[in-house]
Amino acid sequence: MTSGLQARSTSRVEAPSAAAKAALGWTHSARFLTTASRLDQLPATELPEIAFVGRSNAGKSTAINRLAQQKRLAFASRTPGRTQHINLFEVGPKDAPDALFADLPGYGYAAVERAAKLRWQEVMAQYLELRRSLYGVVLMIDSRLGFTDLDRQLLSWIAPRVSTGQVRLLALLTKADKLNKRDGQLSLQAAQQVLAELSTDEADVSVTLFSALSRQGLPDVAEALHGWTRVRTPASTPASALVPADPPTP
Ligand code: GDP
Repeated sequence: MTSGLQARSTSRVEAPSAAAKAALGWTHSARFLTTASRLDQLPATELPEIAFVGRSNAGKSTAINRLAQQKRLAFASRTPGRTQHINLFEVGPKDAPDALFADLPGYGYAAVERAAKLRWQEVMAQYLELRRSLYGVVLMIDSRLGFTDLDRQLLSWIAPRVSTGQVRLLALLTKADKLNKRDGQLSLQAAQQVLAELSTDEADVSVTLFSALSRQGLPDVAEALHGWTRVRTPASTPASALVPADPPTP
């Protein structure tokens, strides 16, 4: 395995650990904050921001809703003109949010006209290259389709910040319930090969099979995102956020 690239391969759906339960409790707290169509309309924030990106129909909205345990927090817009917004969600205690989730426009609609495609490129490239608070990216890839040209283009935008460790990357191979075990492993290997290109000693890149339907990978993903936001330097983090948020064990 390439250094810095971890594969979280959980083909079984196990009972979540205490850490995973705490992490799921944290992702369940996600609530809508604001929406913006341009980078300069997003609020400046010191909170670590985790962006969810992926091709239209890759399962991004379903994954966010599953993580948040809410039916319609994120919803897929079937109208191409309405796919360009960035929606922000707050996560953590109501009175002291400790992270933001950003739902970015899906891409790859065949029917979208050229102007909308160019606009998508501009919004995404700017956000991924310049958003100061961007802390991690969750990239949704349909496990049956693998990486497309647009997914690779997106990787090229984040590669400089991922390779220095400034931005973490977790790829979710979605709809894994549609693959048998062997095809799941092949999908994982193919993704690892693509992601190895971003791997350096500093990079935090991982990939997992994921199914919103069967919950495969769900506790791991919650734990990974929770973990990202817990390891910030004490100077930039309130002390309370460094205390493990495990619920009392019965
Ligand atoms: P988005 O465009 O990336 O937001 O994609 P959606 O979340 O709307 O999902 C696209 C389609 O894939 C919908 O029909 C979902 O029901 C389906 N889907 C999403 N996640 C899963 C999954 O884990 N398993 C299966 N079998 N279907 C899924």
